[in-house]
Amino acid sequence: MKNEILRNLESVRARVDCAVRASGRFPESVRVMAVSKTQPEESLRAALSAGQRLFGENRVQEACARWPTLRTEYPDVSLHLIGPLQTNKVRSALALFDCIQTLDRPELARTLAGEMARTGRRIPFLIQVNTAQESQKHGIRPADFPDFLRLCQDTYGLDIAGLMTIPPLNVPPVPCFSQLAGMAKAYGLPELSMGMSGDFESAIACGATYVRIGTALFGGRVSV
Ligand SMILES: *Cc1c(COP(=O)(O)O)cnc(C)c1O
Repeated sequence: MKNEILRNLESVRARVDCAVRASGRFPESVRVMAVSKTQPEESLRAALSAGQRLFGENRVQEACARWPTLRTEYPDVSLHLIGPLQTNKVRSALALFDCIQTLDRPELARTLAGEMARTGRRIPFLIQVNTAQESQKHGIRPADFPDFLRLCQDTYGLDIAGLMTIPPLNVPPVPCFSQLAGMAKAYGLPELSMGMSGDFESAIACGATYVRIGTALFGGRVSV
């Protein structure tokens, strides 16, 4: 399995490189995030020993159970939360993650601001946008985005580094990627987290700066 993950990692990096060049961008402008949700620790270790340092986790509890130990061995790991965040998990999420990509509602922004004021620990955020405009549970609707961004930045003083989206499986992703890129550009936000195993090349063509790769690196996973 270790060799397989190493091979997958090399192949994903090569494909990312190719897509970056094809769109005339700089190689360093796109970072590959390994999405390690539900993967066994040995898979994480295989990716770590292959040099991967950027990881995304979906669940605060699962991440809190395994990353503090791994981090003592790999202190340069960067860990992002890419799953929904409940306000009662804000404290542990802020203590563990280097970036939270799923900021999507005023109540969460307020709780995060309060907790950061209490602890003095500050991290950057991405705002999750519901680009598909349908009954997606998570993500701020594009129409509500300008007010929400102002609230996060001006009222709560949050460091908003960029935007993130997860197009639902039943819609073509490219219009979602383009819309997200347009919004980020309009508001001067540099980071764009979009693209997964099945569509990261088109996300890169649309300007992704983070691609979130699970199955193409680790193989299938137990469903969440
Ligand atoms: C699971 C997940 C991914 C990775 O998906 P793959 O198709 O396995 O690459 C990316 N982003 C989020 C938010 C996820 O939940």
